Amino acid sequence: MKKEKLILVGNGMAGVRCLEEILKYRPETFEITVFGSESHVNYNRILLSSVLQGGASFDDLTINDRDWYEQHGIQLFTGETVIKIDTDKQIIQTDKNRSHSYDRLILATGSVPFLLPIPGAEKDGVITFRTIEDCQKMIEAANHYQKAVVIGGGVLGLEAARGLVNLGMEVSVVHISSYLMERQLDETAAKMLQKELENQGMKFLLEKVTQEIIGNNRIEGLRFKDGTVVEADLLVMAAGVRPNIQLAKESGIAVNRAILVNDYMETTIPNIYAVGECVEHREMVYGLVKPLYEQGQVLAKRICGIDSKGYEGSVLSTQLKISGVDVFSVGEFQEDKRSKSIKIFDDLEGVYKKLVFQDQKIIGAVLFGDTNERTRLLDMILKKQDVSDVEKVTLFQSSTTGGKSIASMALNGIICNCNGVSKGTIIEAVQAGGLSTVDQVKKCTKASGSCGGCKPLVSELLTYIDSDEFNEVVKQKSMCSCTSLTEDEVVREIQLQSLTSVQEVMEVLYWENEQGCSTCRPALSYYLGMINPEYETSQETLFISEHMNATLQKDGRYFVVPQMYGGMTKAEQLRKIANVADKYGISDLAVTSEQRIHLMGIKQEDLAAVWTDLNMPLSSTYGNRVQNIKTCIGEHVCQCDKQPSLKLSAHLEKRLEFLTTPYRIKMGVSACLHNGAGSTTKDIGVIGMNRGWEIYVGGSSGRNVRAGELLCISATEEDASEIIIGFIQYYRETAKYSERTWQWMDRVGLVHIREVLFDFEPRQLLLERFDEDISLRRSLLEKYYVNRL
Ligand SMILES: Cc1cc2nc3c(=O)[nH]c(=O)nc-3n(C[C@H](O)[C@H](O)[C@H](O)COP(=O)(O)OP(=O)(O)OC[C@H]3O[C@@H](n4cnc5c(N)ncnc54)[C@H](O)[C@@H]3O)c2cc1C
Repeated sequence: MKKEKLILVGNGMAGVRCLEEILKYRPETFEITVFGSESHVNYNRILLSSVLQGGASFDDLTINDRDWYEQHGIQLFTGETVIKIDTDKQIIQTDKNRSHSYDRLILATGSVPFLLPIPGAEKDGVITFRTIEDCQKMIEAANHYQKAVVIGGGVLGLEAARGLVNLGMEVSVVHISSYLMERQLDETAAKMLQKELENQGMKFLLEKVTQEIIGNNRIEGLRFKDGTVVEADLLVMAAGVRPNIQLAKESGIAVNRAILVNDYMETTIPNIYAVGECVEHREMVYGLVKPLYEQGQVLAKRICGIDSKGYEGSVLSTQLKISGVDVFSVGEFQEDKRSKSIKIFDDLEGVYKKLVFQDQKIIGAVLFGDTNERTRLLDMILKKQDVSDVEKVTLFQSSTTGGKSIASMALNGIICNCNGVSKGTIIEAVQAGGLSTVDQVKKCTKASGSCGGCKPLVSELLTYIDSDEFNEVVKQKSMCSCTSLTEDEVVREIQLQSLTSVQEVMEVLYWENEQGCSTCRPALSYYLGMINPEYETSQETLFISEHMNATLQKDGRYFVVPQMYGGMTKAEQLRKIANVADKYGISDLAVTSEQRIHLMGIKQEDLAAVWTDLNMPLSSTYGNRVQNIKTCIGEHVCQCDKQPSLKLSAHLEKRLEFLTTPYRIKMGVSACLHNGAGSTTKDIGVIGMNRGWEIYVGGSSGRNVRAGELLCISATEEDASEIIIGFIQYYRETAKYSERTWQWMDRVGLVHIREVLFDFEPRQLLLERFDEDISLRRSLLEKYYVNRL
């Protein structure tokens, strides 16, 4: 199939993130070409502040190196600017006289720093702070010069100033307002910030308007409107940015402050999209990466033809990346006629906190000196949480991380002690399932589902995951080499797009290998069947294995296994089996360790007749399902305390018949502590004791023997059966295809499984879903069976 030509103009953070998303969904659909004015590969602009302050190196900046572009077949032109777009012919032209045609074009041209139109701005030593080169110039200047002035007391200006202080320069910050960061802080917080930065070595010249930059070729100082002068041999202008819209404007694409886009990042010209700082969406222009990444996600889906609800805008919060200074601000932090605030000011500790309320909701906050509550407050603001019944003073208290930021917690750090749920597990669940509320996390992971004490922490973690600060990845592997999607993503797409066959999944989700492979085909088939049992019963293989219940031997003949629930049979059944064996010349008859008789070597043409003559249920011995249960007859022979193991096995086998599972489940039911059925090395093992049934889970008797862990002791047969069925259903719902019970248990945790099974409501729900599923399977099988014969 001919690939569509996709051109990205702007090799920056937003544009390339969008490409990453596109490659995730449709790795093979586009022939991608990227043009970037800068000579570098895609890098992390945010880290420039850290590089300047000595906290990171230039090497740390690269996000995607040249190998990445090559690996994905992306043609990259660095140091090359697109200067023209012919929107009719769909051709772009660059400053190196190159022309390229496109089917789709993404503009991600970012912003340009605002160079104040001050006389003398062209002199040597006057720079901005946006690129790697700017950063290098500052480091270079610090080697030769002493005095630096930064114009702009906002976030960027202060971070630049702190970098220059660290490089050994004398630094003055010139700011037009009476206090710093006035767009993010109130006066009290700003004054505290100023004091702290003065302690770190910065000087401040507030309420100053620069009239002129003085010096000959190189800057020597600044003269202000009030007539005062400050000496300087380096001037960094950090007075804001302007969206880079020149190319769009000249090409006839509608612009206002920035390039106008709709909720799907489409511009006013067909096949041209825009994303990032160059974009104006619902009158907002964003200058932080989180909203830009969200835009990128929406655009990627749009371009790949995947439905999404579109971009709806973002709530922003600010944090300063200066070590030793904790400042946080969000929302409407200045009170007005309709809002009121609560403030805490601790001059001794240098802590200031202000929460602004309106209609019993927090609408804004400023924190200085202690920002531990930031994620929790942000969450409350985003959710417009009603705080009428909350003791307001508790809102100021550091949360349950014990003053430690949730961001600095290790991925294996435990969030929910009751259920042993780690931060990593929650992040994985949130990323895989798109969870956004504490309740959803509770349902999915059980975190906060017991004593509830960790609810604020889960909420804090959710807000952190949703914040600009969040950059932790709990890597999920792709399903197989045929696709870059993870199993969770594939399952989600099957559900969202109501996909109904393996072939359709592979086509719609753009499988790289059109035929799939031995890893993905059975997995897809399993998931399709899990989501829709009707799919499973429509399979030809199922007809053979479920209705004829015949298994193909290596020599092309079949074997069948008459069902003997719990390994029990009757003389009449044995007589019938013997007659059929005689009639069809079945000479190979074997009694196996699972207490069943195998009739082997049946010719395909005899199968139907064998089945009719036997006229008894056949057991399905292979495939991913609950295998015949191994039992022992202890209750009839053993002298010790014992339980009726045969009865329990027979009951379970009947209940679990026709059920598919992620991997085959081996079970053993022993009547007494002598463990005659080897129950401690089975996926599920039961041992009868005088006080009831001990239930072990996660054992394995394969090549790597593993002892099962005691799940619980059930007093009655009925309770044991419910626990076992609940366990199997939960395994079916949450394990990945082919994941053994013990692997699944290692992943989700035994404590967590116990919590699910021993909590009345979730257990009942599991049993209900099991019953629904199994009865649907039975009725579909019956219907299908009648139609076929
Ligand atoms: C020092 C610093 C610190 C920051 N700290 C933070 C922070 O802590 N948190 C945060 O969220 N954000 C921060 N930001 C802002 C963040 O870096 C930007 O929001 C983000 O980089 C914008 O991404 P973008 O892709 O829209 O633009 P950019 O990353 O600027 O990329 C646009 C690219 O397009 C190129 N280009 C433009 N026109 C053309 C053309 N015609 N042809 C070819 N190429 C072209 C440009 O050269 C540029 O490389 C910081 C920014 C700076 C400078």
